[in-house]
Amino acid sequence: MKLILYIAFAASALAQAPGTLPSLWITGGPNCIEVPNWQIHQYNEDFYILRESGCTNYEKPFLYLLFGKDRALLEDTGAGKSDAAQVVSELIAKWLAVKGRTSIPLVVAHSHSHGDHIAGDAGFRGMPNVTMVPLTIDGTREFFGIDGWPDGIGHIDLGRRILDVIPIPGHDALSVAFYDRETGVLLTGDSLYPGRLYVRDFPEFARSIARLAAFTRGKIVTHILGTHIEQSSTPYKDYPVGAKYQPEEHSLALSRGHLLELQEALDGMKEKPVRLALRDLTIWPR
Ligand SMILES: [Zn+2]
Ligand SMILES: [Zn+2]
Repeated sequence: MKLILYIAFAASALAQAPGTLPSLWITGGPNCIEVPNWQIHQYNEDFYILRESGCTNYEKPFLYLLFGKDRALLEDTGAGKSDAAQVVSELIAKWLAVKGRTSIPLVVAHSHSHGDHIAGDAGFRGMPNVTMVPLTIDGTREFFGIDGWPDGIGHIDLGRRILDVIPIPGHDALSVAFYDRETGVLLTGDSLYPGRLYVRDFPEFARSIARLAAFTRGKIVTHILGTHIEQSSTPYKDYPVGAKYQPEEHSLALSRGHLLELQEALDGMKEKPVRLALRDLTIWPR
C-alpha cells in the first residue's frame, strides 16, 4: 500500500513540466558597461524569466512570460526607464520562430500596481495583439473571473495551460499571486520574495498569506518566485536599500516552507506588528 502511494505521488510530481533556474543572476555592475539591460532566462521552452539590470534601476525586478497554446501572459513590465515592450516583443518573435508560428496574443498582467512593476506599461499600450489587464481591483476581478475579492480565486486559460489567480492584498491593495498548474510555480510578486516584505496593511496581509498557504495545501509547489532579491546568501543579511550590485545574492526561488514560516511569524505578531528578520526574508510593517 505504501509503495503504491509512493508511485502515485511520484507520477503526479513528474506531471509538472520541469525547468531550470540559474545558479546566479546578473545584478548590476560592478562595471555597468558590461552589464546587459535585461537578463533573459529560459526556465523551460514555454516559461521565461526576465530580470531588469540594477544598472538601469536598483529595484532589479523580475518579469515572467508564460506561453500557452493560444495566448501568452506577461507578469509585470519593469521599473524606471523600462523598455520591456521592445524586449518582450523580440522574445516572443524568437519563440514564434522556434515554434513555426506567426503570432500569439499577449496578456499583460501585474503582480501589483507599484511603480517598479508597471513602468513599462506605456510601451505595450496600443500594440497589436496585446490586452492589458486593468490596474484596478474591479478590472482585475472581472478579467480573471475572481468571484469575490479577496476571498475568491480566478483563472486564466492560456490554452492547455491554466493559471490560478489568488488575490493577496496587504503589500498593495491590488496584489495577486499566480499559480501555474503546468510547472507548479507560484508567482508571489512583492508579497513573498527573499528580501524586505513591506507590509502596508498588516491584518489584510496576514489574512492573504494564510489564504495563500491554504491554497497551496496538497498542491505541488516547485518554486515560489517573487519579483525582487534583496537578501544575500548569508542568513539574515540583506543588501542596503538602493544597492545596484549584489554579489552572492540569495537564490530567487523560495519554497512552500518559506510561505508557512511567514504565516507563522505573522500569526505571532497579530497584536503588535514589528519588523522581524527571518533567515531568508524580513517582515517590514509600514
Ligand atoms: Zn511593491
Ligand atoms: Zn517591487
